[in-house]
Amino acid sequence: MSSAYESYGLSSRVAEIPENQIARIADLARNDPEVIKLWIGEGDLPTPGFINQAAERALQDGETRYTYSQGLPQLREALARYHQRHWNVAVDPSRFCITVGGMNALMLSLQMILEPGDEVITPTPAWPNSLEAIRILGGVNVTVGYEFDAGGGMSLPLDRLFGAVTPRTRAIFINSPSNPTGWKMSREEMFQLRDFCRERRLWIIADEVYAHFVYDDAGVAPSFLEICTADDRLIVTNTFSKNWCMTGWRAGWAIVPEGLGGLLSNLGQYNTTSIPTFIQHACVTALDQGDDFIRYQVERCRASRQVLVEGLSRLPHVSVFAPQGTFYLFFRLDGVSGESFEIARHILEQAKVGIAPGSAFGNGGEGYMRICFAIDPALAQQALERLTPCLIALG
Ligand code: PLP
Repeated sequence: MSSAYESYGLSSRVAEIPENQIARIADLARNDPEVIKLWIGEGDLPTPGFINQAAERALQDGETRYTYSQGLPQLREALARYHQRHWNVAVDPSRFCITVGGMNALMLSLQMILEPGDEVITPTPAWPNSLEAIRILGGVNVTVGYEFDAGGGMSLPLDRLFGAVTPRTRAIFINSPSNPTGWKMSREEMFQLRDFCRERRLWIIADEVYAHFVYDDAGVAPSFLEICTADDRLIVTNTFSKNWCMTGWRAGWAIVPEGLGGLLSNLGQYNTTSIPTFIQHACVTALDQGDDFIRYQVERCRASRQVLVEGLSRLPHVSVFAPQGTFYLFFRLDGVSGESFEIARHILEQAKVGIAPGSAFGNGGEGYMRICFAIDPALAQQALERLTPCLIALG
């Protein structure tokens, strides 16, 4: 327990928040302009001008007042069109709730379904915020590890996932494509999970924020919306952050079963009331006019991914998991001693490349590193040239 906890009498929720390992790397690198910043979880392109202009227009039109907690009707309609276009699914606009980014979509969803002591199963290594959100709300994290094999493959054994269920299990959290591993759930596995959760009356919380960032085939990653009905215990969380480089706009959405949209937005009312009105207008433009930008960004990521996967795979002591999705490359350092944070610090100092230590991603992350490749391919090449001698010397 921290001393602030003792002197102010704070809640155990804050006392137990772990130090963010990625922020520690960011702090170390902050004042060094030479560092190539690859620890981050966002694309390096600016938000497209047409989205900025839509926000400016909305400001000039006076869209600066309170609005619907659930989100502007025209934004929820634009979301319905977006899901129809990309996944060929009809989602009623009443099922969407506009949230303060994907993070808030998850927090509200958990508030809707969790009682203190309820267990949520999460495959790990995982985006740390999902584990923390569960803990802060009094839930219990149950983690199941991905399996990494020497040939560069990665899988999530469903029998182990199902075997982790107890009478206290309320939900299974699936982030596919997954941050930080780049793993993507197959359609077949999604069917199996859906059937299992239906039978056990468990919720699936599907975090689909990286759905467009897939590399093994064209199009998008499959969505649980395609195989579930409107009355299944399914919550899908998503965000404007990644598709349109809008991380600072803090806009996202949750999709809940038919009839629960109002309930989730009631919770939103007491958390944030809504997201800014003029930003919601810009989000309509992102959805309706932003497909080309997504395609451009994904192709750029594809090129940078290739540079880094090929280059790092050639190095001794480095096992690379070629990501099926997301914009992260996850790799293991074999036979290198030391904690991943210390190794990341060493790489930062020696190679001037900032990467995220695997320890930031919960159980099973130690010994691994994560690189964000949502960058220009030329910068990926430069990062590779800096990393190569440093990683060789580590072995
Ligand atoms: N889900 C995953 C797996 C993420 O990696 C992130 C961001 O890094 C988010 C959700 C939420 O992003 P935001 O809150 O910026 O919309």
